[in-house]
Amino acid sequence: MLIDLYDLLQEEDGVRNYPVELEAKEFKTKKSRYPISDSDIKLSFRNKGKKHIDFKCVGKVTLIIPCDKCLEPVPYEINIDYFKDLDMNKSSEEKIAELDEEVYLEGTKFDSDVFVYNEILVSLPMKVLCKEDCKGICNRCGANLNMGSCKCDNAEPGTGMSKILDVFNQFKEV
Ligand SMILES: [Zn+2]
Ligand SMILES: [Zn+2]
Repeated sequence: MLIDLYDLLQEEDGVRNYPVELEAKEFKTKKSRYPISDSDIKLSFRNKGKKHIDFKCVGKVTLIIPCDKCLEPVPYEINIDYFKDLDMNKSSEEKIAELDEEVYLEGTKFDSDVFVYNEILVSLPMKVLCKEDCKGICNRCGANLNMGSCKCDNAEPGTGMSKILDVFNQFKEV
């Protein structure tokens, strides 16, 4: 959604509030795409004079992210709580020169999609687990081990590898 702040700039102490309707049904990054299951985001702008606007964004977005170990979908809530003083005196050229990160603002036009996208991106977790002690999937048959053990368990040769691990652990303890 594009919000033109031009009118607000003419109105000292004026306030504008906007709910954000995310148009995308998925959140895409270079590597992955996550369905968006829920979102509730509000933007608010207040003209505090001298072409400065107080900008606030609060809300939350729920993404469905696969568990890092077993790949089961996990709802993950991202909270947004952002505040910034937008300096509307700066021209686009000045912002580029200063490497200003306000890529969501072009002239008086505020792009809420770009802003929210960036906020979600910086809040994405490194990994998500369905539960802290997720057992993951069997690396031989792919069974989800949270549902019970698979048949590969019994066939495990066991001794060879666990001996190596014993030696390894001894080294660690020294
Ligand atoms: Zn899991
Ligand atoms: Zn298995």
